Amino acid sequence: MGRDVIKLNANENPYPPAPGVEAAIRGVQAEALRKYPQIDSTDLRQALADYHGLASGSVFAGNGSDEVLAFAFRAFFNSSLPVLFPEITYSFYPVWCRVFGIPYRRVPLAEGFRIDVAGYAGGNGGVVIANPNAPTGLCLERGQIEGLLRANSGSVVIIDEAYIDFGGLSSAGLTERHENLLVTQTFSKGRSLAGLRIGAAFGSPELIRTLDAVKNSFNSYPIDSVAAAAGVASLSDEAYFKKRARQIAATRERAREALEGMGFYATKSEANFLFVSHPGVDAVALQAYLKENGVLVRHFSQRGIERFLRISVGTEVQMDRLLALIEKYLQ
Ligand code: PMP
Repeated sequence: MGRDVIKLNANENPYPPAPGVEAAIRGVQAEALRKYPQIDSTDLRQALADYHGLASGSVFAGNGSDEVLAFAFRAFFNSSLPVLFPEITYSFYPVWCRVFGIPYRRVPLAEGFRIDVAGYAGGNGGVVIANPNAPTGLCLERGQIEGLLRANSGSVVIIDEAYIDFGGLSSAGLTERHENLLVTQTFSKGRSLAGLRIGAAFGSPELIRTLDAVKNSFNSYPIDSVAAAAGVASLSDEAYFKKRARQIAATRERAREALEGMGFYATKSEANFLFVSHPGVDAVALQAYLKENGVLVRHFSQRGIERFLRISVGTEVQMDRLLALIEKYLQ
């Protein structure tokens, strides 16, 4: 790929990780890499527990939240009843269900791509909801999540918070009161560490013990020493993390307004991406035009969202380039 390509198709963070991350990576002695990393990523888990005000036994860490989610599906979704998730959501959920032989059912979305929690009331083998949802960016409210947890006290509810850093309210603290809740997060988006693969889960000690048993049956040491050190360093710089998250949210709002001004419809995304469509524009043709001009965005051919593009929020300069191209295209 050319050096000048602007990559707004994978929801990566356009900014570097916290400065302390580079120092932590440089601080790892090559000699120390002879040894296996900490078996349960103890330091990283403790840093996550301290950060979220949770007990260390309530925290799990894995190789990106994709791995954490795969372990969680294996660990908790083992009923003959179907696991429920929204019709439009993260594409990996049905993939893992098929890999692990888990029955599943997609629940239709309500008006405006909203998740109607009434559609997830019991009689299932588990529930998984991305909050904010992907690729719509829409969040559930705290009360809706609590309702979902109460209605599903007999099964595990996974809330996938991959995009929680850009405006939504985390449910991590709810794990202390709801034993059926597992919350997953990632260092790939808000913490700019997609290349290191760090993910986490929060839940009751019993859920975390079960997750550990599954982890240990695949790979006792999923997080390498370098990633663990970088993860701890990232958690220690709250000011930088908050500054970047605010900056991305502000750029998102500015780009949304500009696109709406050009006649686009955009969901009220609280994530680091926009989900947009235009009544007079073929999404695939616009995506191709942007690609020809060095800007990559994402299109999904799934029924119901064929007219939409998902555009990751880049830097101000990158978004200006995108907006100028779209403006030209519309003329
Ligand atoms: N959940 C959702 C909703 C995502 O979009 C992604 C990123 N593609 C992930 C989980 C996984 O992210 P990672 O493995 O980088 O933590």
